Amino acid sequence: MVVPGSPSVAGAAPGREALLAALDHSLGMLTLTPDGIVVDVNDKLLGMFGYARADLLGQSHTLLCDPGDPTCGDALANVTHTRRSHSGQVRRRRRDGSPIWLDATYNPVIDDEGKLAFVIKLAIDVSAHVERQAADDARLHLLSLGVDETDNAVLITDAQGDVCYVNAGFTRMFGYAANEVIGQSANVPAGETPVGEFADGASAVDVKDALANYLVSARDGRSCHSEVLVRTAQRQPLWVSVVTNPILDANGQLINAVVLFTDITQSKIQEVLQHKALAAMVRDAPLVEVLTLICRELEQIAPEVVASVVRVDAEGRLRPQAGPSLPAQYHKCIDGLAIGPNVGTCGTAAFQARPVIVTDIAHDPRWADFRDMAAEFGLAASWAMPIIANDGRVLGVLGFYYRTPRGPDALHERLVDVCVHLCKLAFERDESRTRIRQLAFSDNLTGLPNRSMLGVLAAQAIASAAELNARMAVIFIDLDRFKQVNDSLGHQAGDALLRTIAQRLRRSLRGADIVARLSGDEFVAMLTECDPERLDIALERMRSALRAPCQIDGVTLAPSGSFGISLYPNHGKAFDILLQRADMAMYQAKMTSPGSVRFYHEDMNLHAQERLELETAMRDALHQGKLQLFYQPQIDLSDDSVYGAEALTRWTHPQYGDVSPSRFISLAEECGLIGELGTWTLRESCRQLADWRQRGVGIGNVSVNLSPTNFHDHNLPRTIADALADHDLPPSCLAIEITESVLMDHNPSTLRIIEEVHGMGVRLSMDDFGTGYSSLGYLRRLPVSELKLDRSFVHDIARDETVRALTNAIISIGRNLHLTVVAEGVEDEAQRALLVAQGYRVAQGYLFAPALSAVDLECWLERWSTRPPSPSPRLS
Ligand code: C2E
Ligand code: CA
Ligand code: CA
Repeated sequence: MVVPGSPSVAGAAPGREALLAALDHSLGMLTLTPDGIVVDVNDKLLGMFGYARADLLGQSHTLLCDPGDPTCGDALANVTHTRRSHSGQVRRRRRDGSPIWLDATYNPVIDDEGKLAFVIKLAIDVSAHVERQAADDARLHLLSLGVDETDNAVLITDAQGDVCYVNAGFTRMFGYAANEVIGQSANVPAGETPVGEFADGASAVDVKDALANYLVSARDGRSCHSEVLVRTAQRQPLWVSVVTNPILDANGQLINAVVLFTDITQSKIQEVLQHKALAAMVRDAPLVEVLTLICRELEQIAPEVVASVVRVDAEGRLRPQAGPSLPAQYHKCIDGLAIGPNVGTCGTAAFQARPVIVTDIAHDPRWADFRDMAAEFGLAASWAMPIIANDGRVLGVLGFYYRTPRGPDALHERLVDVCVHLCKLAFERDESRTRIRQLAFSDNLTGLPNRSMLGVLAAQAIASAAELNARMAVIFIDLDRFKQVNDSLGHQAGDALLRTIAQRLRRSLRGADIVARLSGDEFVAMLTECDPERLDIALERMRSALRAPCQIDGVTLAPSGSFGISLYPNHGKAFDILLQRADMAMYQAKMTSPGSVRFYHEDMNLHAQERLELETAMRDALHQGKLQLFYQPQIDLSDDSVYGAEALTRWTHPQYGDVSPSRFISLAEECGLIGELGTWTLRESCRQLADWRQRGVGIGNVSVNLSPTNFHDHNLPRTIADALADHDLPPSCLAIEITESVLMDHNPSTLRIIEEVHGMGVRLSMDDFGTGYSSLGYLRRLPVSELKLDRSFVHDIARDETVRALTNAIISIGRNLHLTVVAEGVEDEAQRALLVAQGYRVAQGYLFAPALSAVDLECWLERWSTRPPSPSPRLS
């Protein structure tokens, strides 16, 4: 500051006037009386304040002050008091009211008498500078606030690599006070490599020890970014993102390095843990594997935690799933524990469906029952979070155990949030997978396990039976006449019946037993742990449950089923063998007596094999014309003339020899060849009859046997008509033998077709009469013209009076209904005589002839017509 009147440099100095003019030009000057009245002011000052000279002269200097500024006048007072000059920065006010900052010097002017005459104020306008400064200060203030208050940690080193600054965030994040870090060298000592690989949690190093790592790149003038797991002063692991920026001078020399740390633990938890867990789920890893992985990752991030995941089953019991750091023995101890209000931490959390924190297991009442166990495994505290499904069910519990009494910290809380969510996903995924499997493994119609599921369940049952030395039974159940329900009442009724049967079977057995639907009307029950007595009881329950009448579509049905049984281990140790053998036994039951029960027997195996081969052979024989028709003559007893011939099919197989009709007929029924067989017999017998009639052989009628199944065929009347027409035969020369079982057949078309055949003029003959149906009423409904007395009556007629009474009754029925009665199986003279005595007119049997080939029959006929006269004709 230039003070007027200061000694000037002698000699080369400008003139005093010039100097004053220069000052007058650049400084504002104001001359005041000691009590502050303006007596002089220069233009410069007037310009600064925006006043005219007249405005100020004679006025108090306070005119220039801000009215609200209490310090105004202090400087003047100071000078008048001390009589010494005073400098300082002052704030004043312009005429327009705006503030002006002045660097001002107040100089006392002392008169000759030593009194203070004036105070001269010299001032420079520094407003622009002050404002800039204020803005800078404000910015700096904000900056320091920003740096300190941020969640980020900031560390700055000097050119030597020594830490010269850390912000408050550093202390907050890492737990080190500034003075613990400042001055510490962040340099890598010569010959050493930086500390630590940070990538995995196990080798996480203390942040202080790792500082050198952050400066490696800075030294080369490069900035760098890395994500590392470090430990805080409290040994807490923390994932941080580290950005290092070098500050270089104009020559490229490092002046400072600024290191910025950001806590990325949360995102890292999500990224590492979530990523790995989700990836495991995506690749369809089993539940236990996913949960174990979650526990492992969690323990890496928080090594003081021992993690475990427990499932809560449908019965509310704990089922440990994962806990890689817990001994297996511990899991064994808690497996199956029912959840409750005082069942440790996990059992209680599951029960209450909310988190439970036990900071000291040794003294917590909820652990009263399990304290010793916890102590044995070194568990001192724990924390459990229930894993709750969207529908509110508690699926399981995520448990944290600690080796010392304590509670969770912030990191644990963050971990739990993510992990509970992941566990929930894993559980729900597992549940839906199980559901899907169930769908795929169960039968849509009945909800019972299907064939594949049965295989799985049976294999499990066999495995445990093997271990326990237990016996089991496989029961194959096939409904009787189910096809007829389907055909006559429709598929919906059939489905309803199957559902009812499924329920009944399931209800009649214990929970541990297996009931499955194989296909169609086939069910399989598997009794686990079964002794003979229990098998008896179970069979009886199933059979009576099955038999109970049921209403379907307003129709009352009396279901029944044929049962086949194989036993484990007697009949086999593998399920498919047992199933196959139970199936065979069932088949036998069905064949011999539908609705009955059969146990597997070794012979059946043989039969089944044979049956398969026979079936193929039968098909070949039929298609290759290897079947033959034989004819058994029927004799008119009144004059020993030939009444007609019954066509009987014969099959001689090159390997099996003569196969009896009773065997191959039922085979043809089962393998669907019965229709073809019927057509063949009709055509063949018509051809033969026509041939005989043409050649005058003396056989004018044939009767052909048809099975009940043949009457399901709508084309039967057409087939018969064609067979007759092809050989110009009148319908009356053909008789169709049907058995009484045709009447048991509920197929609605059977009666219609019988009527139709009858309508064509073809005779109908009731075969095996007297053996089956107890009511004779049907004779009025069926248009039969002939009865065939079953050969069992004939067989006993000579020795049994009751039989004679019956045969007598039968012939009178025939007479009354105008039906011819043919006696079958007449083998001897005595039988013939008795029959004749009772009025029988037609007979057939070995007494006359067995069934013969067409050629042999012709020979027989020859002999028959030329035989010596009766009374005792013999068979050839
Ligand atoms: P069926 O209709 O009752 O035939 C009479 C059966 O008794 C025949 O047995 C015949 O050989 C036998 N037989 C004849 N006379 C005597 C006798 O004096 N004493 C004894 N004990 N038996 C005698 P076969 O030929 O073995 O036929 C058995 C059954 O097979 C027949 O019983 C018939 O129901 C059926 N069958 C035979 N051929 C055919 C056919 O082409 N189609 C159909 N659907 N069934 C047939
Ligand atoms: Ca017959
Ligand atoms: Ca018969």
